[in-house]
Amino acid sequence: MERKMKPESLMMSYGYKPELSEGAIKCPIFQTSTFVFKSAEEGKAFFEVAYGMREKMAGEELGLIYSRINNPDLEILENRLTLWDEAEECAIFESGMAAITTVLLEFLKPGETVLISSPLYGGSDHFIKKVLPKFHINALTFRVGATKDEVIQLVKDSGLADTLALVYIETPANPTNDLIDIAASKEIAKYFSKPVKEIYLAVDNTYMGPLWQHPLKLGADLVLYSATKYIGGHSDVIAGACLGSNELIQRVKGLRTFLGNMASPNTGWLLLRSLETLKVRMDCQATNANKVAEFLNQDARVEKVYFLGNLSEKDGIAYQIKQKQCLSNGAMISFDVKGSEKEAFQFLNALRLIKLAVSLGSTESLAEHPASMTHIDVDPDLKKELGISEKMIRLSVGVEYYEDIINDIKQALDHVHP
Ligand SMILES: *Cc1c(COP(=O)(O)O)cnc(C)c1O
Repeated sequence: MERKMKPESLMMSYGYKPELSEGAIKCPIFQTSTFVFKSAEEGKAFFEVAYGMREKMAGEELGLIYSRINNPDLEILENRLTLWDEAEECAIFESGMAAITTVLLEFLKPGETVLISSPLYGGSDHFIKKVLPKFHINALTFRVGATKDEVIQLVKDSGLADTLALVYIETPANPTNDLIDIAASKEIAKYFSKPVKEIYLAVDNTYMGPLWQHPLKLGADLVLYSATKYIGGHSDVIAGACLGSNELIQRVKGLRTFLGNMASPNTGWLLLRSLETLKVRMDCQATNANKVAEFLNQDARVEKVYFLGNLSEKDGIAYQIKQKQCLSNGAMISFDVKGSEKEAFQFLNALRLIKLAVSLGSTESLAEHPASMTHIDVDPDLKKELGISEKMIRLSVGVEYYEDIINDIKQALDHVHP
Protein backbone atom coordinates (compact mmCIF):
# COMPACT_ATOMS: atom_id res chain seq x y z
CA MET A 1 0.00 0.00 0.00
CA GLU A 2 1.17 3.49 -0.78
CA ARG A 3 2.31 5.33 2.34
CA LYS A 4 0.11 8.25 3.29
CA MET A 5 1.99 11.52 2.96
CA LYS A 6 2.36 13.81 5.96
CA PRO A 7 0.35 17.04 5.98
CA GLU A 8 3.52 19.16 5.70
CA SER A 9 4.27 17.48 2.36
CA LEU A 10 0.84 18.32 1.01
CA MET A 11 0.57 21.96 2.14
CA MET A 12 2.02 23.29 -1.13
CA SER A 13 -0.27 21.45 -3.53
CA TYR A 14 -3.25 19.67 -1.98
CA GLY A 15 -6.58 20.50 -3.56
CA TYR A 16 -5.22 22.95 -6.17
CA LYS A 17 -5.20 22.25 -9.89
CA PRO A 18 -2.77 24.58 -11.78
CA GLU A 19 -4.50 23.81 -15.08
CA LEU A 20 -7.63 25.58 -13.82
CA SER A 21 -5.58 28.77 -13.27
CA GLU A 22 -3.47 29.24 -16.41
CA GLY A 23 -0.79 26.93 -14.94
CA ALA A 24 -0.03 29.28 -12.04
CA ILE A 25 1.97 27.25 -9.51
CA LYS A 26 0.26 29.02 -6.63
CA CYS A 27 -3.45 29.46 -6.17
CA PRO A 28 -4.21 33.04 -7.28
CA ILE A 29 -6.43 35.33 -5.21
CA PHE A 30 -9.89 34.84 -6.65
CA GLN A 31 -10.91 38.42 -5.98
CA THR A 32 -14.44 38.00 -7.24
CA SER A 33 -17.84 38.26 -5.63
CA THR A 34 -19.77 36.05 -8.01
CA PHE A 35 -19.19 33.19 -10.47
CA VAL A 36 -20.56 32.71 -13.99
CA PHE A 37 -22.69 29.58 -14.51
CA LYS A 38 -22.20 27.58 -17.72
CA SER A 39 -25.95 27.19 -18.06
CA ALA A 40 -29.16 27.90 -16.19
CA GLU A 41 -29.42 24.18 -15.41
CA GLU A 42 -26.01 24.26 -13.75
CA GLY A 43 -26.95 27.31 -11.66
CA LYS A 44 -30.10 25.55 -10.52
CA ALA A 45 -28.15 22.40 -9.58
CA PHE A 46 -25.59 24.43 -7.58
CA PHE A 47 -28.32 26.22 -5.63
CA GLU A 48 -30.17 22.99 -4.87
CA VAL A 49 -27.05 21.61 -3.19
CA ALA A 50 -25.99 24.86 -1.52
CA TYR A 51 -29.41 25.32 0.08
CA GLY A 52 -29.70 21.68 1.11
CA MET A 53 -32.75 21.02 -1.13
CA ARG A 54 -31.13 17.70 -2.08
CA GLU A 55 -28.03 15.66 -1.27
CA LYS A 56 -25.02 15.85 -3.57
CA MET A 57 -25.01 13.11 -6.22
CA ALA A 58 -22.05 10.73 -6.37
CA GLY A 59 -18.98 12.69 -7.50
CA GLU A 60 -20.83 16.01 -7.53
CA GLU A 61 -18.89 19.00 -6.17
CA LEU A 62 -20.51 22.05 -4.63
CA GLY A 63 -20.27 24.46 -7.56
CA LEU A 64 -19.05 28.02 -7.11
CA ILE A 65 -21.92 30.48 -6.81
CA TYR A 66 -21.04 33.57 -4.78
CA SER A 67 -18.10 34.31 -2.46
CA ARG A 68 -20.24 34.50 0.70
CA ILE A 69 -21.08 30.84 0.12
CA ASN A 70 -17.73 29.74 -1.24
CA ASN A 71 -14.59 30.77 -3.10
CA PRO A 72 -11.61 28.72 -4.39
CA ASP A 73 -9.16 30.31 -1.93
CA LEU A 74 -11.39 29.29 0.99
CA GLU A 75 -12.24 25.89 -0.40
CA ILE A 76 -8.61 24.88 -0.94
CA LEU A 77 -7.63 26.29 2.44
CA GLU A 78 -10.43 24.35 4.14
CA ASN A 79 -9.33 21.13 2.47
CA ARG A 80 -5.71 21.64 3.49
CA LEU A 81 -6.55 22.46 7.09
CA THR A 82 -8.49 19.20 7.52
CA LEU A 83 -5.26 17.24 7.00
CA TRP A 84 -3.67 18.20 10.33
CA ASP A 85 -6.64 17.20 12.47
CA GLU A 86 -7.77 14.45 10.09
CA ALA A 87 -11.17 16.11 10.05
CA GLU A 88 -13.83 15.44 7.41
CA GLU A 89 -14.62 19.10 6.88
CA CYS A 90 -13.53 22.61 7.76
CA ALA A 91 -15.15 26.05 7.71
CA ILE A 92 -13.05 29.22 7.57
CA PHE A 93 -14.18 32.46 9.20
CA GLU A 94 -13.16 36.10 9.23
CA SER A 95 -11.93 35.72 12.85
CA GLY A 96 -11.56 33.20 15.62
CA MET A 97 -14.47 34.91 17.39
CA ALA A 98 -16.61 34.52 14.27
CA ALA A 99 -15.93 30.77 14.28
CA ILE A 100 -16.64 30.46 18.01
CA THR A 101 -19.82 32.56 18.07
CA THR A 102 -21.22 30.83 14.98
CA VAL A 103 -20.74 27.42 16.63
CA LEU A 104 -22.37 28.62 19.86
CA LEU A 105 -25.35 30.06 17.96
CA GLU A 106 -25.78 26.98 15.78
CA PHE A 107 -25.70 24.43 18.59
CA LEU A 108 -27.62 26.33 21.30
CA LYS A 109 -31.27 27.38 21.46
CA PRO A 110 -33.23 29.51 23.95
CA GLY A 111 -33.71 27.62 27.21
CA GLU A 112 -30.61 25.49 26.66
CA THR A 113 -27.35 25.42 28.61
CA VAL A 114 -23.68 25.38 27.65
CA LEU A 115 -21.17 23.84 30.06
CA ILE A 116 -17.84 25.69 29.86
CA SER A 117 -14.38 25.28 31.31
CA SER A 118 -12.80 28.21 33.09
CA PRO A 119 -10.86 30.28 32.33
CA LEU A 120 -11.86 30.84 28.70
CA TYR A 121 -10.47 33.31 26.18
CA GLY A 122 -11.85 36.75 27.15
CA GLY A 123 -13.92 37.17 23.98
CA SER A 124 -15.53 33.74 24.31
CA ASP A 125 -16.21 34.31 28.01
CA HIS A 126 -17.85 37.67 27.23
CA PHE A 127 -20.04 36.27 24.46
CA ILE A 128 -21.20 33.33 26.59
CA LYS A 129 -21.86 35.36 29.75
CA LYS A 130 -23.02 38.72 28.33
CA VAL A 131 -24.52 38.03 24.90
CA LEU A 132 -26.00 34.50 25.05
CA PRO A 133 -28.21 35.38 28.08
CA LYS A 134 -30.07 37.81 25.74
CA PHE A 135 -31.17 34.68 23.88
CA HIS A 136 -32.05 32.94 27.18
CA ILE A 137 -29.09 30.59 26.92
CA ASN A 138 -27.53 29.61 30.26
CA ALA A 139 -23.91 28.88 31.08
CA LEU A 140 -22.51 26.56 33.73
CA THR A 141 -18.83 26.85 34.58
CA PHE A 142 -16.40 24.26 35.85
CA ARG A 143 -12.86 24.99 36.96
CA VAL A 144 -9.56 23.51 35.92
CA GLY A 145 -8.80 20.58 38.22
CA ALA A 146 -12.43 19.48 38.70
CA THR A 147 -12.78 15.72 38.18
CA LYS A 148 -15.30 14.20 35.79
CA ASP A 149 -17.52 13.09 38.70
CA GLU A 150 -17.38 16.55 40.26
CA VAL A 151 -18.43 18.19 36.99
CA ILE A 152 -21.30 15.71 36.53
CA GLN A 153 -22.44 16.46 40.09
CA LEU A 154 -22.17 20.20 39.40
CA VAL A 155 -24.46 19.87 36.39
CA LYS A 156 -26.96 17.74 38.33
CA ASP A 157 -26.97 20.15 41.29
CA SER A 158 -27.61 23.11 38.98
CA GLY A 159 -31.02 21.74 37.99
CA LEU A 160 -30.10 22.49 34.36
CA ALA A 161 -29.05 18.95 33.36
CA ASP A 162 -32.08 18.50 31.11
CA THR A 163 -31.26 21.64 29.18
CA LEU A 164 -27.57 20.87 28.60
CA ALA A 165 -26.81 21.07 24.87
CA LEU A 166 -23.10 21.75 24.43
CA VAL A 167 -19.82 21.33 26.31
CA TYR A 168 -17.28 23.99 25.36
CA ILE A 169 -13.69 23.87 26.62
CA GLU A 170 -10.33 25.49 26.03
CA THR A 171 -7.09 23.70 26.86
CA PRO A 172 -4.37 24.56 27.77
CA ALA A 173 -5.96 27.49 29.57
CA ASN A 174 -4.56 30.92 28.90
CA PRO A 175 -2.29 32.25 30.48
CA THR A 176 -1.52 29.61 33.12
CA ASN A 177 -1.22 26.53 30.85
CA ASP A 178 -3.61 24.58 33.10
CA LEU A 179 -4.97 21.49 31.33
CA ILE A 180 -8.52 20.20 30.85
CA ASP A 181 -9.04 16.53 29.98
CA ILE A 182 -10.62 16.39 26.50
CA ALA A 183 -11.60 12.69 26.64
CA ALA A 184 -13.17 13.15 30.09
CA SER A 185 -15.10 16.19 28.80
CA LYS A 186 -16.52 13.98 26.04
CA GLU A 187 -17.60 11.44 28.67
CA ILE A 188 -19.42 14.22 30.50
CA ALA A 189 -21.18 15.18 27.25
CA LYS A 190 -22.10 11.53 26.68
CA TYR A 191 -23.35 11.12 30.23
CA PHE A 192 -26.00 13.80 29.68
CA SER A 193 -26.76 12.90 26.05
CA LYS A 194 -30.11 11.29 25.26
CA PRO A 195 -31.06 9.15 22.28
CA VAL A 196 -33.04 12.09 20.91
CA LYS A 197 -30.38 14.67 21.67
CA GLU A 198 -26.64 14.24 21.43
CA ILE A 199 -24.59 16.74 23.41
CA TYR A 200 -21.54 17.83 21.44
CA LEU A 201 -18.08 18.72 22.69
CA ALA A 202 -16.36 21.76 21.14
CA VAL A 203 -12.69 22.50 21.91
CA ASP A 204 -10.87 25.77 21.32
CA ASN A 205 -7.48 24.40 20.23
CA THR A 206 -5.85 27.76 19.46
CA TYR A 207 -3.21 27.48 22.17
CA MET A 208 -1.72 24.24 20.77
CA GLY A 209 -2.53 24.84 17.11
CA PRO A 210 -3.22 22.08 14.59
CA LEU A 211 0.12 20.35 15.23
CA TRP A 212 0.36 19.73 18.93
CA GLN A 213 -3.08 18.56 20.00
CA HIS A 214 -5.82 16.78 18.05
CA PRO A 215 -9.09 17.09 19.97
CA LEU A 216 -11.15 15.26 17.33
CA LYS A 217 -9.05 12.13 17.90
CA LEU A 218 -9.68 12.43 21.64
CA GLY A 219 -13.45 12.46 21.19
CA ALA A 220 -14.28 16.11 20.49
CA ASP A 221 -17.00 16.80 17.90
CA LEU A 222 -15.78 20.24 16.88
CA VAL A 223 -12.37 21.89 17.03
CA LEU A 224 -11.99 25.64 16.82
CA TYR A 225 -9.05 27.86 15.98
CA SER A 226 -8.22 31.46 16.00
CA ALA A 227 -6.26 31.20 12.73
CA THR A 228 -4.86 34.61 13.66
CA LYS A 229 -2.42 32.73 15.89
CA TYR A 230 -0.22 29.77 14.79
CA ILE A 231 -2.09 29.07 11.53
CA GLY A 232 -1.66 32.61 10.19
CA GLY A 233 1.54 32.91 12.19
CA HIS A 234 2.86 36.24 10.88
CA SER A 235 0.75 38.76 12.85
CA ASP A 236 -0.74 40.06 9.62
CA VAL A 237 -4.19 38.50 9.40
CA ILE A 238 -7.30 37.87 11.52
CA ALA A 239 -9.13 34.61 10.78
CA GLY A 240 -10.76 31.56 12.35
CA ALA A 241 -11.57 27.94 11.61
CA CYS A 242 -13.91 25.20 12.74
CA LEU A 243 -13.40 21.50 11.93
CA GLY A 244 -15.43 18.36 12.45
CA SER A 245 -17.64 15.85 10.69
CA ASN A 246 -19.38 16.54 7.39
CA GLU A 247 -22.71 16.66 9.12
CA LEU A 248 -21.74 19.20 11.79
CA ILE A 249 -19.67 21.43 9.50
CA GLN A 250 -22.58 21.57 7.02
CA ARG A 251 -24.63 23.07 9.86
CA VAL A 252 -21.85 25.50 10.75
CA LYS A 253 -21.43 26.54 7.11
CA GLY A 254 -25.17 26.93 6.78
CA LEU A 255 -25.23 29.54 9.53
CA ARG A 256 -22.02 31.11 8.19
CA THR A 257 -23.73 31.72 4.86
CA PHE A 258 -26.48 33.72 6.56
CA LEU A 259 -24.32 35.54 9.11
CA GLY A 260 -21.93 36.35 6.27
CA ASN A 261 -18.84 35.95 8.45
CA MET A 262 -16.75 33.87 6.06
CA ALA A 263 -13.19 35.04 5.37
CA SER A 264 -12.30 37.07 2.28
CA PRO A 265 -10.42 35.55 -0.71
CA ASN A 266 -7.40 37.61 0.30
CA THR A 267 -7.43 36.15 3.84
CA GLY A 268 -7.76 32.67 2.38
CA TRP A 269 -4.77 33.28 0.15
CA LEU A 270 -2.65 34.61 3.05
CA LEU A 271 -3.49 31.54 5.12
CA LEU A 272 -2.65 29.19 2.24
CA ARG A 273 0.76 30.78 2.17
CA SER A 274 1.07 30.49 5.95
CA LEU A 275 0.19 26.81 5.97
CA GLU A 276 3.20 25.96 3.80
CA THR A 277 5.50 26.81 6.72
CA LEU A 278 3.24 25.84 9.63
CA LYS A 279 5.28 22.79 10.57
CA VAL A 280 8.73 24.42 10.37
CA ARG A 281 7.52 27.49 12.23
CA MET A 282 5.88 25.55 15.03
CA ASP A 283 8.76 23.09 15.37
CA CYS A 284 11.18 25.97 15.72
CA GLN A 285 8.93 27.82 18.18
CA ALA A 286 8.61 24.71 20.37
CA THR A 287 12.38 24.10 20.36
CA ASN A 288 12.98 27.74 21.27
CA ALA A 289 10.34 27.63 24.01
CA ASN A 290 12.05 24.66 25.67
CA LYS A 291 15.34 26.61 25.70
CA VAL A 292 13.68 29.78 27.02
CA ALA A 293 11.92 27.82 29.77
CA GLU A 294 15.20 26.17 30.71
CA PHE A 295 16.71 29.61 31.16
CA LEU A 296 13.75 30.99 33.14
CA ASN A 297 13.69 27.92 35.40
CA GLN A 298 17.22 28.57 36.64
CA ASP A 299 17.17 32.37 36.88
CA ALA A 300 16.88 33.46 40.51
CA ARG A 301 14.99 36.63 39.49
CA VAL A 302 12.10 34.54 38.19
CA GLU A 303 9.73 33.30 40.89
CA LYS A 304 7.60 30.76 39.03
CA VAL A 305 7.36 29.40 35.48
CA TYR A 306 4.12 28.10 33.94
CA PHE A 307 5.14 25.83 31.09
CA LEU A 308 3.90 22.41 29.98
CA GLY A 309 7.49 21.16 29.83
CA ASN A 310 7.79 21.74 33.57
CA LEU A 311 5.11 19.16 34.40
CA SER A 312 6.42 15.92 35.87
CA GLU A 313 4.96 12.84 37.50
CA LYS A 314 4.68 14.60 40.83
CA ASP A 315 2.07 16.90 39.24
CA GLY A 316 -0.30 13.92 39.10
CA ILE A 317 -3.42 14.44 37.00
CA ALA A 318 -2.05 17.46 35.13
CA TYR A 319 0.94 15.42 33.98
CA GLN A 320 -1.26 12.48 32.98
CA ILE A 321 -3.50 14.74 30.88
CA LYS A 322 -0.46 16.23 29.20
CA GLN A 323 0.91 12.80 28.34
CA LYS A 324 -2.46 11.80 26.92
CA GLN A 325 -3.26 14.80 24.76
CA CYS A 326 -0.31 17.13 24.14
CA LEU A 327 2.25 16.27 21.48
CA SER A 328 4.55 19.14 22.46
CA ASN A 329 5.20 21.55 25.31
CA GLY A 330 3.94 24.32 23.03
CA ALA A 331 5.49 27.75 22.68
CA MET A 332 3.57 29.66 25.37
CA ILE A 333 5.32 30.37 28.64
CA SER A 334 4.07 32.46 31.53
CA PHE A 335 6.24 33.42 34.46
CA ASP A 336 6.15 35.48 37.62
CA VAL A 337 8.89 38.00 38.28
CA LYS A 338 9.69 38.79 41.89
CA GLY A 339 7.59 41.77 42.94
CA SER A 340 4.35 43.10 41.48
CA GLU A 341 3.00 45.19 38.58
CA LYS A 342 5.86 47.69 38.86
CA GLU A 343 8.50 45.00 38.38
CA ALA A 344 6.54 43.27 35.62
CA PHE A 345 6.26 46.62 33.77
CA GLN A 346 9.98 47.33 34.25
CA PHE A 347 10.65 44.02 32.55
CA LEU A 348 8.21 44.62 29.67
CA ASN A 349 9.41 48.17 29.05
CA ALA A 350 13.04 47.02 28.84
CA LEU A 351 12.51 44.37 26.14
CA ARG A 352 14.24 45.14 22.83
CA LEU A 353 13.84 42.16 20.51
CA ILE A 354 10.64 40.74 21.99
CA LYS A 355 7.67 42.95 21.14
CA LEU A 356 5.26 44.18 23.82
CA ALA A 357 1.95 43.05 22.27
CA VAL A 358 -0.95 40.67 22.84
CA SER A 359 -1.67 37.74 20.50
CA LEU A 360 0.44 34.62 20.15
CA GLY A 361 1.80 31.94 17.86
CA SER A 362 3.55 34.31 15.48
CA THR A 363 7.05 34.32 13.99
CA GLU A 364 8.13 37.14 16.29
CA SER A 365 8.30 36.66 20.06
CA LEU A 366 5.68 38.62 21.98
CA ALA A 367 5.31 39.52 25.65
CA GLU A 368 2.35 40.94 27.56
CA HIS A 369 0.93 41.44 31.07
CA PRO A 370 -2.22 39.28 31.39
CA ALA A 371 -3.54 40.91 34.60
CA SER A 372 -3.78 44.38 33.03
CA MET A 373 -4.16 43.43 29.36
CA THR A 374 -5.72 40.20 28.00
CA HIS A 375 -7.31 39.28 31.33
CA ILE A 376 -8.13 42.76 32.68
CA ASP A 377 -11.86 42.07 32.99
CA VAL A 378 -11.53 38.73 34.81
CA ASP A 379 -13.12 39.06 38.25
CA PRO A 380 -10.36 39.87 40.82
CA ASP A 381 -11.19 36.88 43.04
CA LEU A 382 -11.12 34.54 40.06
CA LYS A 383 -7.81 36.05 38.92
CA LYS A 384 -6.39 35.25 42.31
CA GLU A 385 -7.75 31.72 42.27
CA LEU A 386 -6.35 31.10 38.79
CA GLY A 387 -2.97 32.55 39.68
CA ILE A 388 -3.14 35.46 37.21
CA SER A 389 -1.11 37.82 39.37
CA GLU A 390 0.26 41.35 38.90
CA LYS A 391 3.75 39.89 38.57
CA MET A 392 2.89 37.53 35.72
CA ILE A 393 4.32 37.94 32.20
CA ARG A 394 3.06 35.91 29.24
CA LEU A 395 5.50 35.05 26.46
CA SER A 396 4.75 33.73 23.01
CA VAL A 397 8.05 32.37 21.73
CA GLY A 398 8.85 33.04 18.07
CA VAL A 399 11.33 31.74 15.51
CA GLU A 400 14.27 34.06 16.25
CA TYR A 401 17.62 32.50 17.25
CA TYR A 402 17.00 31.24 20.77
CA GLU A 403 20.07 32.83 22.33
CA ASP A 404 18.91 36.23 21.11
CA ILE A 405 15.52 35.69 22.77
CA ILE A 406 17.15 34.56 26.00
CA ASN A 407 19.63 37.46 25.97
CA ASP A 408 16.76 39.91 25.56
CA ILE A 409 14.96 38.39 28.54
CA LYS A 410 18.22 38.46 30.52
CA GLN A 411 18.88 42.14 29.86
CA ALA A 412 15.23 43.03 30.57
CA LEU A 413 15.45 41.20 33.92
CA ASP A 414 18.52 43.37 34.69
CA HIS A 415 16.13 46.35 34.57
CA VAL A 416 13.86 44.90 37.25
CA HIS A 417 14.50 46.45 40.65
CA PRO A 418 12.25 44.98 43.34
C1 LIG B 1 -7.15 34.93 19.93
C2 LIG B 1 -8.00 33.86 20.46
C3 LIG B 1 -9.36 33.78 20.12
C4 LIG B 1 -10.05 34.80 19.25
O1 LIG B 1 -9.57 34.81 17.96
P1 LIG B 1 -9.62 36.10 16.98
O2 LIG B 1 -8.98 35.60 15.74
O3 LIG B 1 -8.88 37.19 17.66
O4 LIG B 1 -11.06 36.45 16.82
C5 LIG B 1 -10.09 32.72 20.63
N1 LIG B 1 -9.54 31.81 21.44
C6 LIG B 1 -8.24 31.86 21.80
C7 LIG B 1 -7.69 30.83 22.71
C8 LIG B 1 -7.44 32.88 21.33
O5 LIG B 1 -6.15 32.96 21.71
